[in-house]
Amino acid sequence: MFSKILIANRGEIAVRIIRACKELGITTVAVFSEADRHALYVRLADEKYCIGDAPAKSSYLNMNNIIVAALASKAEAIHPGYGFLSENHSFAALCKENGIVFIGPSADLISKMGDKDIARRTMKNVGFPVIPGSELLKDLDDAKEQAQRIGFPLLIKARSGGGGRGIHRVDKLDDLENAYTRAASEAASVFADDGVYMERLLLSVKHIELQILADHFGNVVCLGERDCSAQRKNQKVIEEGPALLISDATRHRMLDAATKAAKAVGYTNAGTIECLYDQQSEEFYFMEMNTRIQVEHAVTEAITSIDLVKWQIWISAGMKLDFTQAEIHNNTHAIECRINAENPYAGFQPSYGQITKFHSPEGPFIRFDTGVCEGATVSPFYDSMIGKLIVTARTRNECIQRMKSALNEFHISGIHHNIDFLKFLLSQEDFLSGDYTTNFLTDVLEKQKEADEANNRAVTQCVNCSQLVQNGELDELYHVCPFCNYHFKVSARQRITWICDIGSFVEHDTDLISQNILDFPDYDTKLEKSRKESAEKEAVICGIGNLSGMPVAIFAMEPSFMMGSMGSVVGEKITRLFETATEKSLPVVGFIVSGGARMQEGIISLMQMAKTSGAVRQHNDAGNLYLCVLTNPTTGGVTASFAMEADIIVAEPLALIGFAGPRVIEQTTRQQLPDGFQRAEFLLTKGFVDDIVHRKNQRDYISLVLELHK
Ligand SMILES: [Zn+2]
Repeated sequence: MFSKILIANRGEIAVRIIRACKELGITTVAVFSEADRHALYVRLADEKYCIGDAPAKSSYLNMNNIIVAALASKAEAIHPGYGFLSENHSFAALCKENGIVFIGPSADLISKMGDKDIARRTMKNVGFPVIPGSELLKDLDDAKEQAQRIGFPLLIKARSGGGGRGIHRVDKLDDLENAYTRAASEAASVFADDGVYMERLLLSVKHIELQILADHFGNVVCLGERDCSAQRKNQKVIEEGPALLISDATRHRMLDAATKAAKAVGYTNAGTIECLYDQQSEEFYFMEMNTRIQVEHAVTEAITSIDLVKWQIWISAGMKLDFTQAEIHNNTHAIECRINAENPYAGFQPSYGQITKFHSPEGPFIRFDTGVCEGATVSPFYDSMIGKLIVTARTRNECIQRMKSALNEFHISGIHHNIDFLKFLLSQEDFLSGDYTTNFLTDVLEKQKEADEANNRAVTQCVNCSQLVQNGELDELYHVCPFCNYHFKVSARQRITWICDIGSFVEHDTDLISQNILDFPDYDTKLEKSRKESAEKEAVICGIGNLSGMPVAIFAMEPSFMMGSMGSVVGEKITRLFETATEKSLPVVGFIVSGGARMQEGIISLMQMAKTSGAVRQHNDAGNLYLCVLTNPTTGGVTASFAMEADIIVAEPLALIGFAGPRVIEQTTRQQLPDGFQRAEFLLTKGFVDDIVHRKNQRDYISLVLELHK
């Protein structure tokens, strides 16, 4: 038996291997990159060596550094885990050359199974079913003959094609001649090789894999199957065992074929044969063999109580399997969910950063394998999986319930994760029935996308803190983020509804609309687009309404509409409103938003601002009140003119207020601005704004001000 093992991996699998070693009394050696210096697995190991910088190719893929660490620590064996160097035959050979045992099959076998074509031929030769297909087609007659043998639908593939190119689908014999001629001539012209062959097209299949364990004495067992059909872009998301809807007879056939094939190729250690399984015909076909421990090995461990990692070590140390196929009993069900640091609501983008809170589920029949803990940092250099939750129960239904309840116990802050998405998947009809194929996630996501679009998007992501807020909830919250108090953009029409007494607002100057007086290119297209988006004719709404029974002139600028430019109309409308208010001795309340000036209209904007400022002064000279609410963003010339001429200037929390945006200022001055520069809170401390008022309090606040100034 080994006395010391080096683990050439990181994260949860390194933790898993270290635990197995500790139980066996083996000293553990961890290797780590600069990014993993404080990782959980490094802390658990007895000895540790830094093997390079954060990028995997400098560290976890750096064979020489790992071998040096193994020799320096006098480790007798290396466990490669999964990924990284686990299926690299050169690394396995290098270990051997240095007198170190590579825990896995021989370099020769890794190499054989690593080449898809050789692996397929090898498996076919030892009698494991492969996807029915042909050798290179000789001519049309040959194609017809082969097609009838293979069955439809089928694919004609170019020998030199790849990456989805040079593939033609044929659904029936009548279409074959046309497709064959096209495929052959396309192959000749595109790939300069007219060699084509055929393969059955499997439309609706499960991804089933068979777990093998083989010692060096010719003993091979198959520990059953796992259903890994729930995948997104070939990445498994949920795995379970045993697979549902497979008859005992078929299961027996699969296990038998896997055992025989592994024996015939002289396989040793743990390995997995991945198959495509067609539910209709109950046929299964070889896809590939993984010559290492799988991420989802814990599913098999849960249902068989056989420790696969320990057996990998025992087998490499020359021990014989001490149980037979007949002694393996599966009388439970297990499901594994992969917990990833990613954002399912933003295209599954990986999420990085420090995990500020971390609580994982506990309880009977619950196993959580992880490489992180509270305070750990998820680095952008590696896989986004931060853990695997495996639950076991006597029946599948109980197992699903247990999994959902365990997922509910998670409390993770600081990074995005896929836990809600997993719960959503576990509730899908197709998953509950077990009748799901490799199309499951694509279908679910497609359906969800349609539902979201129909729902006018169910959630909004806060641009300030990235948290997701339900749209329904948002309406009740005055479109303010409940997590960070960020005030989302709202339409001018919405603001007027919030401020005015119901039904009291009468809009003025609805016919005053912009025209392309200076003949700017694209002006009309842009104007049309803004009108469509906002459902408004112009970038400002003006009129008179009541606020707590008091008449008031109101203007509200529309954020989705031609911001930052007065154009020829915005200033005119606001000017007219001030003139009306002066005439009727009414206070004016304005909601300001602007930014991103259209430079072309500069001169018109400036002329309009001057005109508006004049009207504001007359309104003021007549002793009338003007209150404005600066919303995010209020930048550009507007700020310098009528926005800052108000008697009372209030701002919404976090609103950006200034002549130019911070990016423009930093670029111009080549200086970094202080934190929160130009934010409402910063400007309040400098006396530029009078108060900061949360949107939900604005109606009461303004009423009070009007009351006081009556
Ligand atoms: Zn927020």
